[in-house]
Order: sequence, then structure tokens, then C-alpha cells
Amino acid sequence: MDQVPEDWQRGLVIVAHPDDIEYGAAAAVARWTRQGKDVRYVLVTSGEAGIAGVRPAIAGPLREAEEIAAAEVVGVREVEFLGYPDGRVQESLELRRDLAAAIRRHQPEMVVLFNFGDTWVPGYANSADHRAVGRAALDAISDAGNEWIFPEIAEWKPWSARWAAVVGPVATHAVDVTETLDQAVASLAEHRRYLEALSSEPLADQVRAVVERATGPKDGFPAAHAVGFELFYFGG
Ligand SMILES: [Zn+2]
Repeated sequence: MDQVPEDWQRGLVIVAHPDDIEYGAAAAVARWTRQGKDVRYVLVTSGEAGIAGVRPAIAGPLREAEEIAAAEVVGVREVEFLGYPDGRVQESLELRRDLAAAIRRHQPEMVVLFNFGDTWVPGYANSADHRAVGRAALDAISDAGNEWIFPEIAEWKPWSARWAAVVGPVATHAVDVTETLDQAVASLAEHRRYLEALSSEPLADQVRAVVERATGPKDGFPAAHAVGFELFYFGG
């Protein structure tokens, strides 16, 4: 398994929900910001339908604040929310256009996405939002570089990213995150209200177990803790 290329300066992580990045991949983000890279987050929803018993109007702002704090822990200062409805995201032309515009605004060489397959892990269905966002975002990388597909976003000039690295069941590449594991644990712990609603287990134990599981050693990659990615090359 190869190392993810790191000869880039700007990265953009595109996900559906607050907390998606923090379930492991934030360890890779922390590694990259430590190298001096500029990494930014775009979240398609605010995760407002994510806490049972808490109305979306309350949960949305709360989860945005938790995401911004989680980003800060791993050195990310730009976090954008596109305001799509949590749980009801569709793989639409509108979403592709909005993501293409985001890619043009942020001009990333590396785009990081999450599993958009039908299953999350074998035996567990992936969420509709994850499927829609990942697939639309992969298309939006090409759309962002084409001046004709979405003429309505011509105010930002076409931009071609070089790679997409997708966190998911297929790993062709990996990065060593042994040094940044604790930062990733602290980042996930910022989702306090959300995690407390999910489990009565003490927060600290819960988050460490989750991050350690997500960053286990990868076959053929020499690191105690690693995040694996399927790497797509766009040639930009
Ligand atoms: Zn999610």
C-alpha cells in the first residue's frame, strides 16, 4: 500500500454531517496541518436531525459550533455549511453545482471524501446523505474544472483538483497518523452533546475507542496507526 501524496498545499474535506470527519480521518487532517498545509471543511448539512429529542432549530447551531471547535483542534479554521436538509440530501444537479462552486472558491489540490457506497461496513447500510454527498462531490471535482456545465457559477474561475482521497472500505493508499492520534481523539470529543445523546459510556473512553478502531494498522503499510484512502487521480 502506498503513501497518500503529500506534495500539495491546499486540501478540502467535503462531508454530509458534523462528526463525519472526526470518526478517524481528522487524524490525517492533523498530520497535514502540522506539515503547514491549509485544510478546509465543507459540510453539506448542519446535522440538525442528528440528536433524538432535540429539535433541529436547536440542534443545527449546536452541531455547527461543535464542528467548528472540532476543526480548530486539528488546525482547520475554515468551516463552511451549505445548509442542505439533514437526512434528505439528494444526489442532484443543484448539489453538484454547489459543490463545484465550493471547489472553485477554495481551490484545493486534494479533495477528501467519505464512503459513498451502499454499505458503511459489511452488514451496515450507509446513510442516504453519505451516498448522495460523496457521489455528487466526486462528480463536482470534474464539474469545477469545466466552464460549460454550470455557467451560473462563472463568477469563480474553473479549478481542477489533482486528487480525491476517499475514506472507506477500499484503501489503496494510507497515511501514518501515530503522532496525531491524540489530536483526533480530542477533535471527536468536541462533539459532546451529540455523543452524550448516543451513548451513556463516559465520553473519553467512547471517543478513544472509536478513533483507535478507525485508525488501526493497514495491510502492507508500516505504521501503528493509519488512515486508509482510495485515491482517485484527476490529473489537474
Ligand atoms: Zn454522517
